[in-house]
Amino acid sequence: MTEHERIPLAGVIGSPVAHSRSPFLHGYWLQRYGIKGAYIPMDIAQADLAEALQVLPKLGFVGLNVTIPHKESVLKLADSVTDRAALIGAANTLTFRSDGKIYADNTDGSGFVANLRQNAPMWAPASGPAAVLGAGGAARAVIAALIEMGVPEIRVANRTRARAEALRSDFGAKISVHEWVQAGNMLEDCMTVVNTTSLGMVGKAEFKLSLDGLNPKAVVNDLVYTPLRTHFLNEAERAGCTTVDGLGMLLHQAAPGFERWFGTRPAVDDETRRAVLSA
Ligand code: NAP
Repeated sequence: MTEHERIPLAGVIGSPVAHSRSPFLHGYWLQRYGIKGAYIPMDIAQADLAEALQVLPKLGFVGLNVTIPHKESVLKLADSVTDRAALIGAANTLTFRSDGKIYADNTDGSGFVANLRQNAPMWAPASGPAAVLGAGGAARAVIAALIEMGVPEIRVANRTRARAEALRSDFGAKISVHEWVQAGNMLEDCMTVVNTTSLGMVGKAEFKLSLDGLNPKAVVNDLVYTPLRTHFLNEAERAGCTTVDGLGMLLHQAAPGFERWFGTRPAVDDETRRAVLSA
């Protein structure tokens, strides 16, 4: 039997999904590398998730990005889960293997690290403590990555303290939990400071933190990328710190999936940034 050529399909599943920039990003890369393929946003309800994961590979899908609310549920439906996805408790990248198995990974942490390495080359994470504001899914990925990078101590503050306490029990003694209302106090000596809350995003309240104790040698990163320059980043820059926006993390977390599905490692460069920003 001769097999006809199939155009590889990938996409992002979530609900809602219309806001996702992933279709623009993958579409741009497909065009840039002249790859025959397509990347489609799919709004899939929680109740339909299991069925969708059975049907999509049969339709020619080679993989998916996963966003809210499916990032945790897909772990139970996957045949194989990477250690980092299991530790984080969520997956953002699925690959449908030719043997029919679903492989789940989480590339948010490596995207976070690659963004800081690219945009703050002097960043030395192991040289001092890190401060993480927030304790949601993104914070889990950031903390797992910081531990892997050899950060000696990670100070966490979150509005809902219990969520920060849960991080301490999951990630161990390197984590210390601090009061949200006095989060500025934990910044002293920190070499890495990351806002992982959704505060500062368009449509949300501003993220305001007392930066009096901030070390000017710290690298400060905001995971929020709409707007690109947040009030928090502007204030940190005024305090003399190197600042990095969240767009690079979005681009870098997408690259491994694109490579697995379409066979080409895509560039994360100024051209890619411009393409996504102009979308
Ligand atoms: P999540 O699991 O829903 O967590 C949201 C976090 O924000 C929690 O820590 C939450 O605190 C905090 N928060 C929300 N509203 C708040 C308020 N009014 N005051 C104080 N804290 C508040 O979401 P996530 O997946 O971690 O995402 C968090 C942010 O990171 C989002 O803006 C997302 O777009 C961004 N992100 C960016 C990238 C990237 O590639 N750049 C990747 C992943 C995520 P409570 O626990 O108290 O609710």
